[in-house]
Amino acid sequence: MKRTKCNIKNKKNKRTIFIILTKLILFIAVVSIAFIISINQRVKISSNVTFNQENDQKETSEKASEKVSEKGVDQFEGISVINDNRGVPVLCYHSINSDPLKKNSITMSKEKFREQLKIIKDSGYITLTMAELNDYLFKDKSMPEKSVVISFDDGYRDNYNNAFPILKEFNMNATIFVISSYLNRDSYLTAEEIKEMSDYGIDIESHTVSHVKLSTLSYKDQLKELKNSKDTIENITGKPVISIAYPEGKFNKDTKKATLEAGYSMGFTIERGYADRNDNPAQLNRICVDYTYKPNNIINVLKNLKK
Ligand SMILES: [Zn+2]
Repeated sequence: MKRTKCNIKNKKNKRTIFIILTKLILFIAVVSIAFIISINQRVKISSNVTFNQENDQKETSEKASEKVSEKGVDQFEGISVINDNRGVPVLCYHSINSDPLKKNSITMSKEKFREQLKIIKDSGYITLTMAELNDYLFKDKSMPEKSVVISFDDGYRDNYNNAFPILKEFNMNATIFVISSYLNRDSYLTAEEIKEMSDYGIDIESHTVSHVKLSTLSYKDQLKELKNSKDTIENITGKPVISIAYPEGKFNKDTKKATLEAGYSMGFTIERGYADRNDNPAQLNRICVDYTYKPNNIINVLKNLKK
């Protein structure tokens, strides 16, 4: 009897110990799992911090390299470059309108414009500044194997409202040829807007004072249009104006001479073709594109167009 009692007691003890052990194991398991989860989260947080720090550092070094490139040191480091005379497509746009139904040869919806820039970006093309184009064409400098220039004529206000945000989104360079006497008029860019875009890195260049067809003017009057517009824009942006796009692409012998005399390095027509090293600096080709261009048309323009 005593023995049986003892057995029962022993059994009870064993059961108690078993329960305590089980609880202990469960407790350890729960604590361990909680510990592992917290460690994981810490690793995630710290890796995010590292990622952000790396990004910050990348941004800082990108800014630094931009500054270096302004000083003329290799701005295309890490990009495949060429130094032959294959030329550069200089695309020509005009108005980038927010109304997708407005269709004419100089107006493109911002959706269409974004689609065209996206295919340029996705295909690995680098957008050159005017100074980089000038360096490649006339100073024997290399340029990225896939290079393109984005330009706009006339200086419509929608270039600021609609095109500028898309250029920023894709981190692209571009040039706007503005008509200096049209600044601050309805539908045209204001001085503040061109200053802001210039400070950001968009090139603001000349499209004359009054959008007159230069070939209809005397040499003296052409020179006036060229010099005065250059001065006005330089006074606003504080940067040198090095190129001009001739209104309606019209020019003559005098225009080319006056362009160089007025202090420009480059003069653009709208004759279709690539700008290359054999060109007269005051007679550079461009390629005007419009809303009818689908992504594959844009790629063809960038890859296949011969003079
Ligand atoms: Zn024009």
